[in-house]
Amino acid sequence: MLKINNLHVKLEEEEKVILRGVDLEVEAGKVHAIMGPNGSGKSTLSYVLSGRDGYEVTDGSATLDGEELLEMEPEERAAAGLFLAFQYPVEIPGVGNMTFLRTALNAQRKARGEEEVSAADFLKLVREKAASLKIDADMMKRPVNVGFSGGEKKRNEILQMALLEPKMCVLDETDSGLDVDAMKLVADGVNALRNEGRSFLVITHYQRLLDHIKPDVVHIMANGRIVLTGGPELALEVEKNGYTDILAGVE
Ligand code: ADP
Ligand code: MG
Ligand code: MG
Repeated sequence: MLKINNLHVKLEEEEKVILRGVDLEVEAGKVHAIMGPNGSGKSTLSYVLSGRDGYEVTDGSATLDGEELLEMEPEERAAAGLFLAFQYPVEIPGVGNMTFLRTALNAQRKARGEEEVSAADFLKLVREKAASLKIDADMMKRPVNVGFSGGEKKRNEILQMALLEPKMCVLDETDSGLDVDAMKLVADGVNALRNEGRSFLVITHYQRLLDHIKPDVVHIMANGRIVLTGGPELALEVEKNGYTDILAGVE
């Protein structure tokens, strides 16, 4: 599924190296978590996967089912089946959520050479997906994320993920200050969308989220690299002993 090989990334504008050789392989149907201290490069990894400006890949690769992601435009990445949810969803005043989601879905379809979905069919699809996730579809009538509570933004993100039916989902929940309810929403959404053909990379600073999303594999990132990989017990160890103890001796 997702294969990251020796990924090196620096800031475009400055001589600051952030990722120093990230190696990571997420198999189909698996949930991998990345944890790590603040500033270790976790968000940068997700930004680079999304194709955000401002970062320069100086070495390495990231492929999705063998296709090089790093050479694709952001919409091509979505068409290839990559989905990224970020810590701070953008607010778009004046654009209805329904229009926004349909535009996202149709951009994906267009990049795949598929037919666009009509407003009527989309409405049906949204109602279906929202109901299966127990999300109130009323939120669809409001402008994108404007005045949404943290929980509503999370619901919206999960709904978007359900609509786009990605095969690789990357969620960066590091610093979002999720309260317990919002955290459960994210976890329930991920768990509902988990299947043997879909993989998840869940980035989180705290172990709590992983109480609700049981990861198959846990990685610890430090100083721009994955320095430790283990099972769910690694997350519990972080919770108990903190990063300093765990990282002593591995770098
Ligand atoms: P994490 O998500 O693990 O907390 P980040 O990827 O956000 O780490 O950041 C890694 C390092 O890169 C930090 O030292 C951060 O300050 C720096 N960094 C990331 N993006 C930028 C940027 N656009 N400008 C300046 N520094 C950046
Ligand atoms: Mg940070
Ligand atoms: Mg971060």
